[in-house]
Amino acid sequence: MNYNSTRDKNKVVTAAQAIAQGISDEGGLFVPQELPFYSLEQIGELCKGDYKARAKKIMGDFLTDFTADEISESVDAAYASEKFGSDDPAPISYVDIGGVQSAVLELWHGPTCAFKDMALQILPHLLTKSVKKTCADKQAVILVATSGDTGKAALEGFCDVEGTKIMVFYPVDGVSPMQKRQMATQKGSNVSVMAIRGNFDDAQTGVKKIFTDPEIKEKLAENDMLFSSANSINWGRLLPQIVYYFSAYCELVNDGKIQLGEKINVAVPTGNFGNILASYYAMKMGLPVGKFICASNSNNVLTDFISTGTYDRKRHFYTTISPSMDILVSSNLERLLYDLTDGNAQKVAGWMKELGENGSYTVDDATKAKLTALFTGGCCDDEMTKKTISTIYTQENYLCDTHTAVAFDVYAQYVKNTGDKTTTVIASTASPYKFSAAVLSSVSADKLPDDEYDTVELLSSKTGTEIPAPLAALKNAEVRFTAECEVDEMPKSVLEGLGIC
Ligand SMILES: *Cc1c(COP(=O)(O)O)cnc(C)c1O
Repeated sequence: MNYNSTRDKNKVVTAAQAIAQGISDEGGLFVPQELPFYSLEQIGELCKGDYKARAKKIMGDFLTDFTADEISESVDAAYASEKFGSDDPAPISYVDIGGVQSAVLELWHGPTCAFKDMALQILPHLLTKSVKKTCADKQAVILVATSGDTGKAALEGFCDVEGTKIMVFYPVDGVSPMQKRQMATQKGSNVSVMAIRGNFDDAQTGVKKIFTDPEIKEKLAENDMLFSSANSINWGRLLPQIVYYFSAYCELVNDGKIQLGEKINVAVPTGNFGNILASYYAMKMGLPVGKFICASNSNNVLTDFISTGTYDRKRHFYTTISPSMDILVSSNLERLLYDLTDGNAQKVAGWMKELGENGSYTVDDATKAKLTALFTGGCCDDEMTKKTISTIYTQENYLCDTHTAVAFDVYAQYVKNTGDKTTTVIASTASPYKFSAAVLSSVSADKLPDDEYDTVELLSSKTGTEIPAPLAALKNAEVRFTAECEVDEMPKSVLEGLGIC
C-alpha cells in the first residue's frame, strides 16, 4: 500500500517513507491511497483475538512494506502489560452519560497517563524500522510541538532509543503543572525540552517551519541526520489509533452490549483532530459507526466549522482547564477534507493556502453536506466542564479528567437535542490526576493546596481513587529542563541542541 500527499497527488511514498519523513515536502500530510475494508465476518474474527492480535492484523494491512515479524515485534513491545498495567491497554467502563449507558474507552493506562501513549509507545518502533528501510544509517531527529500530553508521551516513547534524538517545545503557560513536571523531569541521554513564549499554535507553526526550511534541512543532511515528527501529522501516530476503535467495538460485542453489525456512535474530545479522524478511518474500513460527535472546549473552531462550513482561526485563543485541546489550527482536519473531496489535493492545497494567508477558508456545498451527514460538533466551557466532572462523580461515582468531561457534556447535549440513544463509545483521553487541581476543585469545595503533590494526594483521599504509579513516581524526580525561548529562536535552539549550528 502506498501513500499520497494531501496537497500533491503526484507524491507517492511507501509506508516506511511516510513514517520516516512525517510530513510531505510541500507541507501536505501523507494519506493511504486506499483503505483496507473488513466485512462483518472479518470484524467477528477480530473479536476473537486480544488487543495485540487486533493491532497486528490492522497495522499489517497498512504497513505492507513491513514484515509480519517487524509488526509483531513492535506491537508486543509497545502494548506489553508492564507498560499498560494489564493485558488490555484500552479497557472500557460503562457509565451513564446523558441518560444513556455509554462505553467510556479509557485510553490513559499507559506510562504517561494520557491517550497519546496508545500511539507513542509504538511509534518509535515503527519509526526506527522505517528509517532503516529508507535511509540506512541516518539519525532521526524528532521535533515535537506539544500542548502537554504529546510531549511527555513522545519523550517517554523515544527515551534512549538508539539512532534517535528528540526535542520537545511546549507553550510556557499552556500546560498543567503535572504536565510541566512530567516533561521537565524526563530521563534519557537523547532528549531535550524547551518552553516557548507563545501558545501551542505558535509552537506547532514553528516546528512546521523548521521542518520545511531548506537551509536547516541541508545542515541536517550534511550531518547524516533527518527530521521526523511524532506529532499526529505522522501517519505512524494515526494508524495505531484506528486499532482501539475496532477493539472497543469488539469488546462491546463480546460484552453483549451490541450485536455484530449494529451501529455505534463515537464521541471524542478533540484538539488536533487526530483521535476522531482515526475513528472516521475505522468507519471507512467497515466499522459500523453512525455519528461522530466532535467535542471542543471554548476554543470551538471545529464546532463552528462543522455547523457553517467555514473554518476561521481568527478568534480569541482561550487557555482552558483542558489544555490539550487549546488549539485553533487542527492539522488533521486536512486529511478529512482530502477524503471528503475524494482525494482532491488541489482543492485541499487551496484551502490550506487560504488558511495560512487569510486565517480562514470555506468548503464547497458538497463537502459541507458530506461533513454534516457524519459529524456533529459541540463545545463546553470551563464552568460546564467542572460541573460535568462533579455530576458524573456524584451520580455515577466515576472520576474523569477535564478533557473527557468536555466529551461527556457535548455528548449529553447531543442526546438531548436529537434523542439519539445509539450505544456510544466516548474516548476518555487522560487520567484525572494529570489535571488534579481542576478535578479536585470540581468535586470538593476545600481550598486547594499550593503544592501539586498535596493536591494529588488530597484528590486521592477525597475520592478513594488511586494515584497512577507513573505520576506518583515523579514526586521526588530531579528537574532537568528549565530553559525558555522566544518563538523565533526555535530554529537556533534546534541547531544548537544538535550541535550543528
Ligand atoms: C491530545 C489530547 C486530546 C486531543 O486529541 P487530538 O487527537 O489532538 O484531537 C484530547 N485530550 C487529551 C487528554 C489529549 O492529550
